[in-house]
Amino acid sequence: MSDKILFNRAMTTGRELDYILDATSRERLAGDGYYTKLCHQWLQANTGCAKALLTHSCTAALEMAALLIDIKPGDEIIMPSYTFVSTANAFVLRGGIPVFVDIREDTLNLDERLIEDAITPRTRAIVPVHYAGVACEMDTIMEIARRHGLKVVEDAAQGIMASYKGHQLGSIGDIGAYSFHETKNIISGEGGALLVNDAELVVRSEIIREKGTDRSRFFRGEIDKYTWQEVGSSFLPSELIAAFLWAQLELAQSLTDRRLASWAYYNDRLRSLEAKGALRRPIVPPECCHNAHMYYVLLSDEANRDTLLDNLREKGISAVFHYVPLHSSPAGRRYSRVSGELNTTISQSERLVRLPLWAGLGEAQQDQVLEILERFFD
Ligand SMILES: *Cc1c(COP(=O)(O)O)cnc(C)c1O
Repeated sequence: MSDKILFNRAMTTGRELDYILDATSRERLAGDGYYTKLCHQWLQANTGCAKALLTHSCTAALEMAALLIDIKPGDEIIMPSYTFVSTANAFVLRGGIPVFVDIREDTLNLDERLIEDAITPRTRAIVPVHYAGVACEMDTIMEIARRHGLKVVEDAAQGIMASYKGHQLGSIGDIGAYSFHETKNIISGEGGALLVNDAELVVRSEIIREKGTDRSRFFRGEIDKYTWQEVGSSFLPSELIAAFLWAQLELAQSLTDRRLASWAYYNDRLRSLEAKGALRRPIVPPECCHNAHMYYVLLSDEANRDTLLDNLREKGISAVFHYVPLHSSPAGRRYSRVSGELNTTISQSERLVRLPLWAGLGEAQQDQVLEILERFFD
């Protein structure tokens, strides 16, 4: 039997430990020192956001976003059910009510045509999730939000180095959130960033991230003592994490290029199976530049999907599926509501298989995966 092919491998660039060692010899090991500043500058330069702030996860960045846009008990937030828990949980922590809308059949993103039906007098925000690093239809979503006076928080956890009509994901709405979790494209083990695009939110975003204090202004010498200003928490990572992350951000383009090569290889080789009607490959609209965050295929039904997953696992290949739609989960049923039917959400989540993909996955390993797929549909 061949060696096991992992679903994901956390790729390091080789510079992480050097930078961490260097960080220990600098003046500050807590957050917002030398490496954090480098990361902030990189994120601002590469996304065009007004202010980038490292957090200890994308979850934390989403929780900051909920505080920043003043979510109060009973406020409604429109989002997909087909997403990771944190998209919803961050708002539920403030007493908000996620309102789930169905996804598009092609990109598996929030279906912008269904958003207006979900809007009520209690709606405060829309949270588009850029699934697989492929952008939601942002022009339409922004236009709806402006017309109804709603905030837009982009869950761009999977979206670094991907764009929509030339704009980096996370830089289009009022606020964006990145993840640097080890399963994402650019990593620091756990980690994330808040992108603040609305310049009016910048001062409060620094306060919320620093335990509700104006310590950031104090460090810049703008005030001579810092005090408790409003509700916040400790959302900033230490310099050790930032040093690791800097080693990744410096090489973000090459890490992305390597993923894109593996993605394209799967996509070329699966063309004929799609032509035979065996499966459906990812669809990337022409206005979207994706980042090869994931490669997935959609099968005809759940039974077929589960048999394929078993086949892959038997051969030592870890392929996975996701998400259990949030509206059907125990907490989702308790804290959220649904707008309209979620038929596409349910159907796509039952038929999806994610194939192994990481920067450095070789064609020889991909061939092993592809061979199993080819034999399965023979
Ligand atoms: C990974 C992910 C998150 C959570 O990111 P963490 O950094 O692990 O908190 C949130 N939303 C989506 C869509 C994700 O894929």
